Amino acid sequence: MNDKDETSCPSASSPPPTQDTNSAFARWRRKVALVTGLGVTEEERLQDLQMHHTRHCEKTKEYLMNYSPAVVFMLKHLKLSGCDVPRSNVLCAPCDLTRAGGYSPEHGAIVLCAGHFFSQTHMEHTLVHELVHLYDHCKFKVDWNNLRHHACSEIRANNLSGDCRYTRELRRGFVAFSKQHQACVRRRAAESVAANPACPDAATAERVVNEVWDSCFNDTRPFDEVFDYSHYARVESPDTSFDTCNITIDILADGCAPRLHTIRLMGLYNIDWDN
Ligand SMILES: [Zn+2]
Repeated sequence: MNDKDETSCPSASSPPPTQDTNSAFARWRRKVALVTGLGVTEEERLQDLQMHHTRHCEKTKEYLMNYSPAVVFMLKHLKLSGCDVPRSNVLCAPCDLTRAGGYSPEHGAIVLCAGHFFSQTHMEHTLVHELVHLYDHCKFKVDWNNLRHHACSEIRANNLSGDCRYTRELRRGFVAFSKQHQACVRRRAAESVAANPACPDAATAERVVNEVWDSCFNDTRPFDEVFDYSHYARVESPDTSFDTCNITIDILADGCAPRLHTIRLMGLYNIDWDN
């Protein structure tokens, strides 16, 4: 029943057999060029690297929003407080490499700095840190120009996020053990407050942190106590019903059309950056 000619010759409607090979080869050649930097401009190479970082960041973000107990806990309590956080409000974006993340009270949006994170845990801590700011903003109506308010939220965010876990401090080169956690929270909170345009100098930042320390350090809401990240476990049955493509702010997620959300990000000013 099979005509010999038909099996040996492609029909006129079939695509030319070399097309796929060619495009795969072209893609491969381009990848090699981008990796080695040969035959492409520095700008093209950096753009490719940035795209790679953003995709990786989005993937990790999705994972953490589904499986990290601390992140899921914070998202749940934000929702209970009437501040549901759409996934589209947590953005992976290129930013200058001294930052890990930031929070824009104006937009209720969190920025994760793609390419900055040295581990999934680092991103987890940063995300929880920013979610604590969001929680404070939602629940306590924080005035970010009021340094006492800002200091209080920074103390809580650094205390509860795992930013000041022993291993993270070791990485930064701070190795004194006694009261290390508190010293770290104090130092990082003062650094963030000092960066507030409403803060005249570093000494004022330190003073304000000290003034609100006791009440804010001991306020672990919505956690019962400081979360123990060392007992890391995955959330067993995550809610994955959301559609990562159907979101309001464009992202570079796998399977979604790669649209540069950095354009949208330019609208995010007044960001409280953290490192
Ligand atoms: Zn902060």
